Amino acid sequence: MAEPALGAEELERYARQIGPGVLTLEAQTRLKRSTVLVTRAGGMGGPLALSLVMAGVGRVIVAHGGTLISPDLNRQVLGSERGIGEPRTGQFGDRLRAMNRFVSVEMIDHEPNDEEAVDLVGRCDVVLGCAPTFEERLRLNRAAVLCRVPLVDASQWGMMGTLIVLRPGQTACLRCVYPQEPPFEEMFPVVGAIPHAVGSLAALEAIKILSGVGQPMFGRLCMIDGYRGRFSSIELQRDPACPCCGSSFSPKPTATGG
Ligand SMILES: [Zn+2]
Repeated sequence: MAEPALGAEELERYARQIGPGVLTLEAQTRLKRSTVLVTRAGGMGGPLALSLVMAGVGRVIVAHGGTLISPDLNRQVLGSERGIGEPRTGQFGDRLRAMNRFVSVEMIDHEPNDEEAVDLVGRCDVVLGCAPTFEERLRLNRAAVLCRVPLVDASQWGMMGTLIVLRPGQTACLRCVYPQEPPFEEMFPVVGAIPHAVGSLAALEAIKILSGVGQPMFGRLCMIDGYRGRFSSIELQRDPACPCCGSSFSPKPTATGG
């Protein structure tokens, strides 16, 4: 079977991450063969997508619609002051592509609906959800459960963040973790350093899952309380009666797209 080999320039690019304690050459090649989906590339998804592009993940698909506004720039690292008032997709894609010509970046200018989410997730090896609404997070969770693709779910509020790493069929799913919808604020408060930290940790989880190096946090929820400077994690329990991954789950779309 022909596998994409790493060229001399790529080996030079990744020289600091191939070696003892980091990736092997085979692991780096696995990254090159991999495809990931990042939904929303703002405060969390921006640094996340950048990290995956720079690490050499072969294809990075990014979905984020809308227009960049000034309050985005306390955290959305893929934007700039020049881009205020412009669609996010073009400038975010340009920024990502400028960082690594050895990878493919595919931009989607809207949030995928149910059907698109399943199609996209089915093409991927890992899915990374950074959406602000629980509806979008659940949509991605459902697609990950259907397609049996590992899901990394990142969230933020104020000076706090959470990271959940799930392997459908083996661990809890997002619906097991949140039986009831958490509250949502349109203009939620956030200090940019928190989503950057959560996004970077999410990228590291994806790199471990894709490369086979290290120990992914499957089935755990990591909490960062930046306000108090505390970090903790808990094991997640699967709910046998979960409407998404439990025995009664029906693999049919249930919600309207949007
Ligand atoms: Zn579940």
